[in-house]
Amino acid sequence: LFTPVEMAPRDPILGLNEAFNADPRKEKINLGVGVYFDEDGKIPLLKAVARAEEFRQQAMAPRGYLPIEGIAAYDNAVQKLLFGQDSDVIQQQRIVTAQSIGGTGALKLGADFLKTLDTSGIVAISNPSWENHRALFTNAGYEVQDYRYYEPSTNGLDFLGMLEDLQALPPSSVVILHACCHNPTGVDLTVENWHEIIKIIQTKQHIPFLDIAYQGFGQGIEEDAAAVRLFAESGMVFFVSSSFSKSFSFYGERVGALSIVTQTTEEAQRVLSQVKRVIRTNYSNPPTHGATIVNMVLNNPELNALWQEELASMRKRIQQMRTLMVQQLKNKGANKDFGFIIEQHGMFSYTGLTAAQVERLREEFAIYAVSTGRICVAALNMKNIDAVTDAIVEVCK
Ligand code: PMP
Repeated sequence: LFTPVEMAPRDPILGLNEAFNADPRKEKINLGVGVYFDEDGKIPLLKAVARAEEFRQQAMAPRGYLPIEGIAAYDNAVQKLLFGQDSDVIQQQRIVTAQSIGGTGALKLGADFLKTLDTSGIVAISNPSWENHRALFTNAGYEVQDYRYYEPSTNGLDFLGMLEDLQALPPSSVVILHACCHNPTGVDLTVENWHEIIKIIQTKQHIPFLDIAYQGFGQGIEEDAAAVRLFAESGMVFFVSSSFSKSFSFYGERVGALSIVTQTTEEAQRVLSQVKRVIRTNYSNPPTHGATIVNMVLNNPELNALWQEELASMRKRIQQMRTLMVQQLKNKGANKDFGFIIEQHGMFSYTGLTAAQVERLREEFAIYAVSTGRICVAALNMKNIDAVTDAIVEVCK
């Protein structure tokens, strides 16, 4: 049975981590990771989470099955976070939300449900995108195409290219859009850009699938949801996958949600019944712990305020690191202007470093980054930033 099974290719980022762990140099720095590290280089356990866990521990609650679509209060809280407290689509009961196994689980549920509907069979993702987008939608049976997004010559957006490519797709194609904090580039769309994208998507009857994995890491919780709210105002039907992995520093708890905006309450009920079927036949129903904690935090005013403060401090620390990095590179006489790094949002930055420069960072300075030039800005801190900027200046010479 297993004789013809070939070895699957290694995940490039996990491979990078393995090489980092095996590196004996003491002063090594890992900027290849995809998680938020605090000033001490650790994954934080948020205070709001720790308090909610204490309450949960005291309650000694039994662990029965959850409903197929998860905890109702959690699903409602997710909707408010994404669509806004006073959202019309919430009031009109046109959104279906199901708790999911992280943001990845939400994408997979959405992919499987969409596969039963009438689409072009093509899924368009940004070039570049989070690598799992391509693999996940390919495995779910779609043809995956790229649309232009990042322009290396400006370290910014190729907006005209993006519009042209969305226009050129067959009607009713699924378009994956990073709602904020684009992974891997950090380059985001402006509100004006979103208006134009919405127009094209509407005309071509494409199906927007917004992926929001970093809400609160860009400009603020409300600001980062701008795209979701603009799509809701447009009256279109669309999909949203969301995740608390980053915003709750909750990576291993796998807490996310799939939300689908429909046209009517009655349509929402039919859609929910089908999403439940997808869940039921995959993993029956979601796990309790993570979503219970998120639910307790979001629905308790005190814990919610504490969480928002903690999220803001993660966001601000990343912004400080961006500013400091650019200042240091300038002061140290880098042969290029890195000012664009301040304009980027979220955890990641496409630095514009070439694969050869990234290799020199690793070989000569024990600094690990992805060969595309992506670094995790959240892995920088006051202790390592000097070494990083010294090395970047050197490899850019
Ligand atoms: N979408 C994007 C753009 C991401 O960067 C990630 C996480 N790296 C996800 C989805 C998946 O999130 P989760 O870890 O919650 O599955």
